[in-house]
Amino acid sequence: MMRNQFITDAYIGIGSNLQNPFFQVAGAMEQLALIEHSELHSFSSLYSSRPMGPPDQPPYVNAVAWLKTRLAVHPLLLKLQAIENEQGRTRDGERWGPRTLDLDILVYGNYSLKNQVLTVPHPGIKSREFVLYPLHEVNKNLMIPNLGAIHRLQPRCYANGLTRLSL
Ligand code: ATP
Ligand code: MG
Ligand code: MG
Repeated sequence: MMRNQFITDAYIGIGSNLQNPFFQVAGAMEQLALIEHSELHSFSSLYSSRPMGPPDQPPYVNAVAWLKTRLAVHPLLLKLQAIENEQGRTRDGERWGPRTLDLDILVYGNYSLKNQVLTVPHPGIKSREFVLYPLHEVNKNLMIPNLGAIHRLQPRCYANGLTRLSL
């Protein structure tokens, strides 16, 4: 698989609201730790959030993982999609409908790119409490390309009932 010379800090958003979301998120953490040419640096607490999009779906469990990787951004996306598929993700439903596992590349180093398959930083970051709060928890000093400091973005975002779950 394609590999970079350099190590990049990648932040992955994790979400689930089907088939035991705690179990799904824990399983995703395990799989993220096994990605080749990469190392799982740390991860956030688990959070419970209100669903975005269709309201008639269960609440979500969310978390953020901080990965140090030599994978280029596209191979990383393919790895994440393989993990989603392994955990029973289907793509036949409506936009933002319920899912067993969603893994999004939130930030990939200081990259900024937008093409057919990938927008990085992820376009939803700024308005999503279930991304900003765990992201701030894992790295309070994070600077997000085009958006700025996480410690300025996070307090500006309405918590919308987001709950940090204790283990
Ligand atoms: P959202 O991206 O708004 O959170 P979603 O996660 O439900 O919605 P998916 O169905 O998981 O969307 O993904 C749809 C497509 O988004 C993927 O096929 C992928 O090519 C594309 N995509 C674009 N940018 C990213 C990114 N930063 N991380 C993950 N997928 C991305
Ligand atoms: Mg998503
Ligand atoms: Mg996604």
